[in-house]
Amino acid sequence: MTITQGGTFNFQLSCPSPYLCTNFSIIMILPIVAYGAPVLRTVAKDIDADYPGLAALIEDMWETMYASNGVGLAAPQINRDIRLFVMDSAQIFANLDEEDKGRYPDDPGIKLVFINAYVKSFGGEEWAYNEGCLSIPKIREDIHRPEEVTLTYVDENLQPQEKTFNGITARIIQHEYDHTEGKLFIDYLKPLKRKLMKGKLSDITKGKVKVDYKMTFPK
Ligand SMILES: [Zn+2]
Repeated sequence: MTITQGGTFNFQLSCPSPYLCTNFSIIMILPIVAYGAPVLRTVAKDIDADYPGLAALIEDMWETMYASNGVGLAAPQINRDIRLFVMDSAQIFANLDEEDKGRYPDDPGIKLVFINAYVKSFGGEEWAYNEGCLSIPKIREDIHRPEEVTLTYVDENLQPQEKTFNGITARIIQHEYDHTEGKLFIDYLKPLKRKLMKGKLSDITKGKVKVDYKMTFPK
């Protein structure tokens, strides 16, 4: 059973009453932190397997990401300075134009959780892709990044991994990984372009932007 209250909370109950059972969970849509918040400029910390409420936090991050039509979400964006991000490149493939089908090596995409991720190496040619960020709404820019990325990380089953990704998947991973390093996609823009968007960025910090998902603004 799923009850949605005001679009903010989803109470997903697997039994008739939460008082009768123990295996129910409350999944929350968390507010997304806007550009200008110090947490977005902080190098995030590693977490332990016993980080309080980790499984629930990951569920909340999925819910928050999908509710805001994101394809990736990093913990600093929900005001936690920890090395955790989620991404789902399958959403991009599901919405690809006919002419773009077969263009990317990672088709049909993948849904993954990254805990304590560290980039080991980059590979391939740099290519441009139009990026946006839930923390920087209404701004999209072509960003050049390497084709491939190899990372060490811990997955959602707390198993250590070392994997190489390419295509759209590698693109989203690099964007989200940057959040855990206190870096944003606009940092890759030329100084003049950054200067020209200063007004827009300060409007976002002040909350002078219309979004259809829940945000918190530093002001
Ligand atoms: Zn972002």
